[in-house]
Amino acid sequence: MDAPVIIVGGGPVGLSLALGLARYEVRSILLERAPEPVRESRAVVIWPRTQEILRDWDVYDALRASGSFVTTFRALNACTDATLLSVDFTAVDDVVEDPGVIVLPQNETERILRALVAANPLCDLRIGAEVTGLAQDSRHVDVAYRIDGTERTVRGAYVVGCDGAHGIVRHALGLSLEGMTYDSRIVLSDEILENDPGEDALARVRIDQPGFCAAIRFAPRTWRVIASLGKDEDSERALSPAAHRERLRMVFGDVETTTLWNSLFKIHRRHAQAFVVGRVALAGDAAHLNSPAGGQGMNAGIQDAANLAWKLAWTLRDGDRDAALFESYDIERREMVTDTVERYTDRLTRVALGFSPRTKQFAARTMWRAVRGRGMQRKLCRALGMLSGRYTTSPLVDSRHPLAGRRIDDLRLPDGTRINRRRRGEAALVVVGELPLDLPHIRVPVAPKRWHLKLPAVLVVRPDGCVAAAIEKPTREKIDAAWQRAFCGAVPIPRPAAVS
Ligand SMILES: Cc1cc2nc3c(=O)[nH]c(=O)nc-3n(C[C@H](O)[C@H](O)[C@H](O)COP(=O)(O)OP(=O)(O)OC[C@H]3O[C@@H](n4cnc5c(N)ncnc54)[C@H](O)[C@@H]3O)c2cc1C
Repeated sequence: MDAPVIIVGGGPVGLSLALGLARYEVRSILLERAPEPVRESRAVVIWPRTQEILRDWDVYDALRASGSFVTTFRALNACTDATLLSVDFTAVDDVVEDPGVIVLPQNETERILRALVAANPLCDLRIGAEVTGLAQDSRHVDVAYRIDGTERTVRGAYVVGCDGAHGIVRHALGLSLEGMTYDSRIVLSDEILENDPGEDALARVRIDQPGFCAAIRFAPRTWRVIASLGKDEDSERALSPAAHRERLRMVFGDVETTTLWNSLFKIHRRHAQAFVVGRVALAGDAAHLNSPAGGQGMNAGIQDAANLAWKLAWTLRDGDRDAALFESYDIERREMVTDTVERYTDRLTRVALGFSPRTKQFAARTMWRAVRGRGMQRKLCRALGMLSGRYTTSPLVDSRHPLAGRRIDDLRLPDGTRINRRRRGEAALVVVGELPLDLPHIRVPVAPKRWHLKLPAVLVVRPDGCVAAAIEKPTREKIDAAWQRAFCGAVPIPRPAAVS
């Protein structure tokens, strides 16, 4: 065995997975064919749910320091400069540490992640290594790759294909990305503006036109412009300098810009029929492709890595005896992708592309009025920030209680710390209310109303921050059984030690 885990593809998802595995002391070999990270900005936003995962893995600070951090996501009507939508992430500061959005182009994100992976002694990053095939049996997987003109093979207990939408790993498993491709084509470009039209708004949207035309700022004076083409619009014409100038005029008015790149894309709503086959898993774009509306593609991929990293680590710690923990990745992440990510991005895409200008203008007016209240702001923060998904069908989760399967709210504790700071990416028992418990635990004196918990209660929280069980009228037997179920018996319940 060359390493317990072989990762194919060092985009943001493969790199994050390598760092997540290292966080749990698992060695990995990462095979990446491209000598350099991507050049394009691609994903430009890191949402709160992804941030808390990266914080657990000690990756957050580097990304936050390199990007800009905004607590309010404000979009303007590009015609009138009036606010179309404003989402204030501090509305969820009771359940999220440091709530806001990291705005950072993907090429920077990848550069930082690559440097962290290269510096980590548990990660063996092999740049210029192009994977050409793989074969698995019941005990290991062999991965063939080419580097510097030489054919080589590495053997791992598990392989994760993070090799993107056209990756070889999914093909080798005989799987395809099933779903649909939207009719509309999208033109994207990155622009540096001579004069920025306004420093505090992150997005500018035209709602008086059919289709979609908007821009999002991802660095000082630097904007991503996104516009849809009509069904009959000629692709070549759409990329002509005249059409390009017209799109820029629509979102910015008359300003001078320098175009960094532009391109025409189709957008998809697709996922693989399985995310796990034998000892091989798929993550990120290799497993699912979504519309860029909502900016969830890369974030969902890093969240795949968060679900997988601890499961691989704990399966290996348990002597690799039982596949149940690893296989639960398939059930959980396919549910999250199809029920939450796809639905949300699809709804946004259909509104953006399908609504008439009149309907959009009416919706914008009524929506902005409706979402100003704190309750709606919290809902928007949860949806945008990817804080609200739930695993309901997982065998690891006792979903009878509505809290189970959800991310735990990162509440502030009486000593001023937060639940997640105390867990630091490990599994934990959380005692809510007054209950003597002779096991290491984190105590939360009072439950928020939305937890719908009868106190006292005990929560079993997984390393990825998901509540596996919410136990009311807790007994030691119930806690043991919930722990056993949540971790498939791979890791024993923490022994009585320093009780917090
Ligand atoms: C123009 C554009 C705009 C986007 N905008 C957004 C956005 O606003 N928000 C958002 O969240 N997402 C956005 N996305 C999507 C986002 O970029 C992807 O979801 C993200 O890159 C997925 O990361 P990944 O690591 O799964 O795959 P990728 O980034 O595709 O990385 C795959 C890696 O695998 C490597 N590889 C492939 N085959 C092999 C092989 N045989 N051997 C070795 N290595 C291999 C590749 O070189 C690459 O480095 C955008 C994408 C595009 C193209």
